[in-house]
Amino acid sequence: MGWGLRITIEDALRIIEDIAETIEENKDLLTKLDSAIGDGDHGVNLSRGFQAARQKLCSTEYAEISAVLKTVGSTLVDSAGGAVGPLFGLAFIRASIVIEGKREVILDDLVRMFGAAEDGIISIGKAKVGEKTMLDAIHPAVESLKKAKKEKLSIISAFEQCVKAAENGMQNTIDMVAKRGRSMYLGNRTRGHQDVGATSCYLMLKSALETLKRLNTK
Ligand code: ADP
Ligand code: MG
Repeated sequence: MGWGLRITIEDALRIIEDIAETIEENKDLLTKLDSAIGDGDHGVNLSRGFQAARQKLCSTEYAEISAVLKTVGSTLVDSAGGAVGPLFGLAFIRASIVIEGKREVILDDLVRMFGAAEDGIISIGKAKVGEKTMLDAIHPAVESLKKAKKEKLSIISAFEQCVKAAENGMQNTIDMVAKRGRSMYLGNRTRGHQDVGATSCYLMLKSALETLKRLNTK
């Protein structure tokens, strides 16, 4: 089986490392977006969480992708703070559970991982699509992966579609009125602003795609 069809533990570690770097590069943008209709801590929360996760991943040997994702999830829950800590944290933990025991991940697994992550976010956040949250980026991303699986696309092509769907979803939050989280209290004044959680989701997925493409052409 050629590369492009599966993700190994080395790839997964590289993806997480690059996401941590992407968060650092976009910290100011995330702060700016969260300051407009929130409290401005989103970039700092995510940076703290991913830097802590990066530290943990460096100091331990992992035999399974599941264990890597579980470490990231529990570290985000423990250290990130804000709404994003528990929401992204649980998403990573739920994704890790559905691939326990696997040494490599194929598109079929990715569909289950992302579906489980979305369910985790809904189970604690109770948000619905259209309420101007991270779910507005994650939900279309999950749907696009399901479609890519039916069309038997490669992981790279599937991820390209997934990132496009998340980007679209993120942009759609601009016209929405916040119904969840801190921004909810600003009501109609939230219209015209892009949701920060949907933005960080998109940035993370885009980062993962770039890493996969880079690894694939090595
Ligand atoms: P806080 O609002 O506690 O400061 P963050 O700034 O870390 O948290 O994250 C804010 C983001 O979290 C929002 O932009 C939104 O995408 C997401 N969010 C907030 N509440 C919910 C929820 N109930 N369900 C899903 N996502 C949510
Ligand atoms: Mg905030």
